[in-house]
Amino acid sequence: MKRPDSVPPAGRYRIETWGCQMNAHDSEKLAGLLEEAGYRPAADISQADVILLNTCTVRDKAEEKVFSRLGSFRPLKERNPSLIIGVCGCVAQKEGESVFRRSGLADLVLGPRAIESLPAMLEQVRRDRCRPVDLGRRDDSILFAGHRARRLPGAHAYLTVMEGCNKTCTYCIVPLTRGREVSKAAPEVLREAREVAAAGYREIELLGQNVNAYRSGRTHLGGLLRMLQEVETIRRLRFTTSHPAHLSLEIIRAMRDCPSVCDHLHLPVQSGADSVLERMQRGYSRRRYLDRVENLRSHVPGIALSTDIIVGFPGETPGEFAQTLSLLREVEFDQVFSFLYSPREGTPADALADGVETAEKRARLAELQALQQEIQLRRNRSLVGSVEEILVDGASRQGRGQITGRTRSNRVVNLPGDAAKAGQFMKVEIVSAGPNSLEGRPCGPADLDLAEIAVYK
Ligand code: SAM
Ligand code: SF4
Repeated sequence: MKRPDSVPPAGRYRIETWGCQMNAHDSEKLAGLLEEAGYRPAADISQADVILLNTCTVRDKAEEKVFSRLGSFRPLKERNPSLIIGVCGCVAQKEGESVFRRSGLADLVLGPRAIESLPAMLEQVRRDRCRPVDLGRRDDSILFAGHRARRLPGAHAYLTVMEGCNKTCTYCIVPLTRGREVSKAAPEVLREAREVAAAGYREIELLGQNVNAYRSGRTHLGGLLRMLQEVETIRRLRFTTSHPAHLSLEIIRAMRDCPSVCDHLHLPVQSGADSVLERMQRGYSRRRYLDRVENLRSHVPGIALSTDIIVGFPGETPGEFAQTLSLLREVEFDQVFSFLYSPREGTPADALADGVETAEKRARLAELQALQQEIQLRRNRSLVGSVEEILVDGASRQGRGQITGRTRSNRVVNLPGDAAKAGQFMKVEIVSAGPNSLEGRPCGPADLDLAEIAVYK
C-alpha cells in the first residue's frame, strides 16, 4: 500500500546548529545520513521524531545554551516518549557520557569526527532504548562523500577540505574537540567541487579550522585554488579559516591569479599587542601580521579583510588593549567579530592569572565595537555610487519586498527585488550604506552568459 506523502518511512527530523561554518556543514552531512535512512525534515520541531543539536563549545555561553535548549524539550519528550534527542558536535566531544548526567533528556552523544555512526546509533536507541556514545576520532567528517550531504538550497555551498587543528592557541578548545589535522585528497576535492557545480551552486567555501595548512601530497592550498579553476561554473571561491602564520606567498599569489577566488579574506588576529599574542601562542607578531596585510593588499588591490578579536585575555592591560584599538585603526578591517575571552577548561590559558574585572572587560569590548562601527561606516560609505556584482541569497530579513545578496568582497547588499532571483548574479548600484550592510538598486544583469543563468534557474 502506498504511504501518504505526509508520512515519511522513518519519521521526521530537525537539526539545530550552533557555531562555525564547519558545524553548519556537518549538519548538512547529518541531514544527508538521516534522509538516506528514510527521515524527512520536520516543518516544526513539535513534529520531529529525531532532534539533533549540533553544538559548539568555543565559548562558555554557547555551551550553556545547549543545555538550556535540551531542557526546553521536556514537554515534547513527555508528549512523544519515542522522540530521540541527540547531542552532536564539540559539546558532545568535550562532555561525552556526562551529557547524560547534565541532561536526562539526551539519548545519544556523537562526536564531530564520527558522524557516520548516526544511523546505527538511532537504530540502537530505537531497538534497545540504550544511550550510545561515539567519540571515535575517525575521519568520517572529512571522508564523507560530498554528494551524500543534504546541502541547503541556494547558490553557496560548503566543502570540507581539512579537519582538526594542530595549533596550540592557549585559549582554544578546538584542538581538544576536533583532533589533529587531516586533509581531503585533492582529486577528491575536485570531484566534489564538480558535483556541487553540477547541482547548481555557484559559490564554494572551502572549510578547515586551519585551512591554510591544507596539504595533499605536493598540493598546498594555493595549488588547490588553482586546480579548482577548472570547475568553470563555480564563479566564486572562498576559504576559511585562515591562520596568519600559515598564509604563504603561494596562497596570496593564487588569490591574485585565480579569477574565481573572491577578494575577501577572514584573517583572525586576536590581539594587537605582541605580549598578548605571545601569551596566546599565536605564532606571529603584530609586525608580521601587518606585513601579511600589506602583501595581500599589494597583490589583491581592494581586498576586503575581516578578523576575530578576543577582548580581556587573562592579564590584558589597558596598554595592551590600546594596541588592539590602534591595530584596528591601522588596518581598517571591513568587519570584526569580537568576543569576550571565555575560559575553557583544559586549555593552557585557563591556568593563567587574570585580575581584570568583568565589568572592565565589557567596557573594553563596547569601546572596540564602537570604534569598529565607525570604521565600517566610513569604508562602506566610500562605496556609495559604485556598481557591484552580487550573488542573491534570497528574501531579506528586513521583509518589505527586499532581497539580499553578497558582493565578492562579502558585503551584504539589500535591494528591492523578487526572492525568485535567489542564486542569480546581478549588478547593483550602491545607493546608501550603514556600518553592517549596503543598500542597492538593480542596474542590469551581471556579465554572464545568459545560457548559464537559464541553466541555473
Ligand atoms: N581557526 C580559527 C583561527 O585560527 O583563528 C578560529 C576558530 S575559533 C572556532 C573562532 C574564533 O573564536 C577565534 O578566532 C577566536 O577569536 C574565538 N575564540 C576561540 N576560543 C575562544 C575563547 N576561549 N574565548 C573567546 N573567544 C574564543
Ligand atoms: Fe583554535 Fe588556534 Fe586552531 Fe584556530 S588555529 S582552531 S584558534 S587552536
